Amino acid sequence: MSTKKLFRADLHCHTTCSDGTLSPNKLVELAAQIGLSGLAITDHDTIDAYETALESAKKQNILLGTGVEFSCDYDRIGVHLLGYDFALNSQPLRAFCVRHQQRRIERNQKILTKLEKYKMPMKMDELMQAHREAKTIGRPHIAQLMVKKGYVKTVKEAFINYIADGKCCFDAGEPFSAEETIALIHAAGGKAFLAHPHLIDNVQLIDRLLRLPFDGIECHYAKFAPEIEKKWVQIAQSKKLLMSGGSDFHGSGKQYLTLGASWVDEETFYKIFQRL
Ligand code: AMP
Ligand code: ZN
Ligand code: FE
Ligand code: FE
Repeated sequence: MSTKKLFRADLHCHTTCSDGTLSPNKLVELAAQIGLSGLAITDHDTIDAYETALESAKKQNILLGTGVEFSCDYDRIGVHLLGYDFALNSQPLRAFCVRHQQRRIERNQKILTKLEKYKMPMKMDELMQAHREAKTIGRPHIAQLMVKKGYVKTVKEAFINYIADGKCCFDAGEPFSAEETIALIHAAGGKAFLAHPHLIDNVQLIDRLLRLPFDGIECHYAKFAPEIEKKWVQIAQSKKLLMSGGSDFHGSGKQYLTLGASWVDEETFYKIFQRL
């Protein structure tokens, strides 16, 4: 009987550089522990995890492809795009990450101002201090502070009642277009994928969105039911797009998403990552 282990690569996970709760090193260690062969870290709007993760991956014998998850705007709908296999030293891509950080500072201030109107005052300093290691501060961090202050009982409650898309204290911040985001990923030699497409609840919008020059779709996501996976696999195949997959692991921030819950096989991994 063959003892060769099954090749599994999780291509969607977050670290403390954005809103995950494990450091890049700990994430890579966990990936090795659970028997993953490959990984792509996809922090929100930052690639800083790669400063330490590459070294850890070498030690742990994990194939680490480059990744990022950009927030963008399409027809005033918030959409997440995954970038893979880009050059880490791309200056335009790095400058784009810096613009996102600025966008987030301004946007977080707007959200805090709205929350104050609802009698939930929080200082920007307090938010930044609580997450010093984060390069991008986002709504999950705000929600955690709301829980800590006793304004809400859970992160979920903070989102549902106040800061989820379209809710009373939501603010999208300066919109960066899907077109520009895809162009920057391509300029860095990378591939652009539509992340968790099932979250976009508008068939016509998806249809138009997928006319942009995407390279692939995230067809395997967290705990997708098989029939949902099948639908996105068929769409990707019909459009001759690559298929990616990952868990969207955030550590204890989202305990229901476990690392390795979704993954891609060796053949798919090497189709996406050609600069390893
Ligand atoms: P941001 O990057 O600041 O826009 O925040 C996005 C993060 O918030 C992502 O990790 C989402 O999964 C998380 N998020 C968005 N909506 C919700 C929700 N309703 N409940 C919990 N987390 C959410
Ligand atoms: Zn997140
Ligand atoms: Fe996302
Ligand atoms: Fe994500």
